Amino acid sequence: RPTLMTGIQPTGFPHIGNYLGAIQQSVKLQNSESYDKIFFSIVDLHSITVPQNPTILRQNIINLACSLLACGLDKPQTVLFQQSSVPHHTELAWILGCLATLNKLDHLPQWKEKSPSKEDVSLGLYSYPVLQAADVLIYRATDVPVGDDQIKHMEFARHLARQFNKIYSPVFPIPKQITSQHIRIKSLRDPIRKMSKSEKDSRGRIELFDSPDEIREKLRKAVTDLGTGGMIGYDSQGRPGISNIIDIHAAVEGSTPDQICSECAHLTTVEYKERAAEAIIEMLKPIRARIVHLRNEPQHVVSVLSKGNEIAAQNAAKTCAEVKKLIGLS
Ligand code: ATP
Ligand code: MG
Repeated sequence: RPTLMTGIQPTGFPHIGNYLGAIQQSVKLQNSESYDKIFFSIVDLHSITVPQNPTILRQNIINLACSLLACGLDKPQTVLFQQSSVPHHTELAWILGCLATLNKLDHLPQWKEKSPSKEDVSLGLYSYPVLQAADVLIYRATDVPVGDDQIKHMEFARHLARQFNKIYSPVFPIPKQITSQHIRIKSLRDPIRKMSKSEKDSRGRIELFDSPDEIREKLRKAVTDLGTGGMIGYDSQGRPGISNIIDIHAAVEGSTPDQICSECAHLTTVEYKERAAEAIIEMLKPIRARIVHLRNEPQHVVSVLSKGNEIAAQNAAKTCAEVKKLIGLS
């Protein structure tokens, strides 16, 4: 039976890249009613692979839960939970780690993106994709809606599932990644890099809770080239800054970069940025209003999470017991 699993790190407020690249897709799949269960994890154990301040981390977890509920992940079949409260994730990660080679891990992007040199890479950051595979496999998930930046990690998760199935018994379905339009939103300050929660400069991202004025300001300051006569144009290699804004705008409007370019051909870059800002503000308006509402009801959010934690643990425990039996550990 189709089961969906996905996660997001509490490394900051979710941004429009997370929304357009992953969250929106999860909401659509949830609302399609084709899944018995949707496991949506706040992957806090992943977030500590880079340094976190405990007070801020605690806040980020609640803010993230509010944001996900505000985005519409609130149907009865959706299990919103905190990774660290389900110990079976790390238990299965250890077991899968015994099937993962250093050679494979060496080729995965996670530690390269987050650390300037190998001397500074912790064991946690290096083995991050093993834990990510365990997150998915512990629920025997079939479908995983995650962004375009996770392709290599998902291939690795499938590799570990196949290894385990071959050595022991076919316990795990081979999970497939679902990416709607292969959209990878770039930083507004550095359009070569992807937009990230953990990028130091928050002007590089539009967070779901940003006010209309903050969004206008961030768009105004977004790095773009002058182009020919200050006009817009789509060329992701040659003009990455303006192309990124067109990509965001197209995703927000549910249209294509070509359509956006012909609709806005008469606008200068400065005017176009204002137009794009208004479209983003409009899309985020109801989400932001729901976040404000939920932040005033922390008890409700905490109770959703504790209920989710319980259901997730029940499901994870079953797989874990079966896996341990097959290995000879029980
Ligand atoms: P961090 O910088 O801490 O890694 P992040 O912004 O990359 O944060 P994650 O929690 O790692 O966010 O990822 C959550 C989901 O959002 C994943 O499915 C990921 O593929 C997707 N995602 C992250 N950044 C982008 C982006 N710039 N464009 C599209 N999808 C993205
Ligand atoms: Mg990330």
